[in-house]
Amino acid sequence: MRSKLPDIGTTIFTVMSRMAQEYGAINLSQGFPDFDCPPRLRELVSFYLNDRKNQYPPMTGIPQLREQIAAKVLDLYGFAADMDQEVTVTSGGTEALFDAIQATVSRGDEVIVFDPAYDSYGPGIALAGGVTVHIPLSLPDFRIDWNLVKERINERTRMIIINTPHNPSGAIMSRQDMDTLAELTRNREIYVLSDEVYEHMVFDGGVHESVLRHEELRQRSFAVFSFGKTYHATGWKLAYCVAPAALTAEFRKVHQFVTFTSPSFIQYAIADFMRECPEHAKELPAFYQAKRDTFCRLIKDSRFTFTPSRGTYFQLVDYSAISSLPDAEFANHLTQKKGVAAIPLSPFYEKAPKSTLLRFCFCKDDSTLEAAAQILCKL
Ligand code: GLN
Repeated sequence: MRSKLPDIGTTIFTVMSRMAQEYGAINLSQGFPDFDCPPRLRELVSFYLNDRKNQYPPMTGIPQLREQIAAKVLDLYGFAADMDQEVTVTSGGTEALFDAIQATVSRGDEVIVFDPAYDSYGPGIALAGGVTVHIPLSLPDFRIDWNLVKERINERTRMIIINTPHNPSGAIMSRQDMDTLAELTRNREIYVLSDEVYEHMVFDGGVHESVLRHEELRQRSFAVFSFGKTYHATGWKLAYCVAPAALTAEFRKVHQFVTFTSPSFIQYAIADFMRECPEHAKELPAFYQAKRDTFCRLIKDSRFTFTPSRGTYFQLVDYSAISSLPDAEFANHLTQKKGVAAIPLSPFYEKAPKSTLLRFCFCKDDSTLEAAAQILCKL
């Protein structure tokens, strides 16, 4: 059969999680917490399930939830989004990213992504008939080289995908980055797809520079956020996209035929929880910074070297003092022979540099991090 995605295999997250399970390794690969969501949220979900909120909710998401989202966006980013025309609830950030790409990218259009790039962008672009233009982030701190971007922008460029805080590196973009992006896209038909699913995981007093804070950029942007990350409930696959009315209208044309809508009882529960417990999201930076600090402290005397992550729930480490294996082989070895699973970086590149970096996920109970660190410190 002719494949539409001939070069795409199974995502590295599934590969590594499966391997971790098969070999009984501690899973610090795929990004998901091993602790649960807030008990009150679970209570609300079961309440609405039993309250029979089990039929199709509105295509755009229930109004109560969109209202809470708009209030949150105003509070955090100072932007009064119109909940009816600019906010859409989706089945995961993954769906929102896909919808935004399908809504704007046509055959032959170019989309700029920054490598290492989250692995769902490329296939979405390919399925739209677009061409992915890969620009490597500058090492060692994974910054965008705006001169390279300027060189690659042309009349076929339709979209630029940014991701801050950045998976897998933990880098965060600055206000200066946003100003430069606005300048480079000014007076062109270029949309920005801003993957901000880790909006609440910014450390050391850093600020999350959402495109929604930026008056000029937000007029051309799809901003994507995920409840999965914010509420420690990645399995619920509930998220949202904020975009100007004209972009949202096109986005919804796709959304209505990809999923149409998302589980109703979870939408009701999250709407209530956002109203009842706004402090949950506000406490997340400190909560995850403490996890990062615990993990970094636990592996400080190991032979891994690292700079503490600035955002996300991932920590990159350099293993060059331990092994000269390529990253994917070292990740397999670590999982199968040593009992800790991690994510290699090469699958996130078109042309991977020779690097000896692995990504560990630290959104785990301290006991999990301690057990993993005991092994890592012996390598
Ligand atoms: N985003 C998660 C990660 O980076 C994985 C998501 C997935 O498995 N699709 O680990």
